[in-house]
Amino acid sequence: METELLYLDDSYLRRTSASVVEVSDDALALDRTVFYPTGGGQPHDTGTLESGGRSWPVTAVKKQGAVVWHTIGGEDPLPEMGTEVEAILDWDRRHALMRTHTAMHLLCGVIWNEYGKAVTGGNMEPLAGRMDFEFDPLPEGFAERVTAAVNTEIEADRRIEVSFLDRDDALTDQDLIRTKVNLIPESVTTIRVVDIVGLDRQADGGTHVAHSAEVGRFEIAKTESKGKGNKRVRIRLHDR
Ligand SMILES: [Zn+2]
Repeated sequence: METELLYLDDSYLRRTSASVVEVSDDALALDRTVFYPTGGGQPHDTGTLESGGRSWPVTAVKKQGAVVWHTIGGEDPLPEMGTEVEAILDWDRRHALMRTHTAMHLLCGVIWNEYGKAVTGGNMEPLAGRMDFEFDPLPEGFAERVTAAVNTEIEADRRIEVSFLDRDDALTDQDLIRTKVNLIPESVTTIRVVDIVGLDRQADGGTHVAHSAEVGRFEIAKTESKGKGNKRVRIRLHDR
């Protein structure tokens, strides 16, 4: 059994019809979904499943193997196997996460271009996030310079394109090597690539906006040292 992951091709898809293919105590597996499951530093979507005038809140989403499980809140009995449902995202939360995820990649691209430093980890919530970089120490004027450079990339309204590469091709691609494509498990034979055209290109499974101007205004809220060769950058996004 496998859930078709509609968000990989179209991050702007807000709803889909789907069939319930498995039911557990508090969660449902669907044959296809628009819900992003927690992973890759991006938290899960929320929203509702609807069928026959009834509605169930989706409070968590996780992927187990090839199947996406939607945790259902509330006390109502879950729909049965085979039920046709409408799966509907909380779009405000999802779109905020798309803006945030793209902002993180803008930050990666700017820091690589300005300083040649790689990212070592990160996490996000809607309109805020943190990323760790291999600095020791942070250069003078770092926050001001990077904030200005990221906002310049936002104003340039770069296109963001998603494509799919064979693993063998991805492993010889210089941009993808730099962003550690080799760490993706060997069982993954098709690599999804998110390209902020002209700035940053990396293997990534997350949801992104289609144009960088949609990110809004970028701010570095705080920088912290997390030990030798590891500096944490906390970001926030604002509407323009
Ligand atoms: Zn990413």
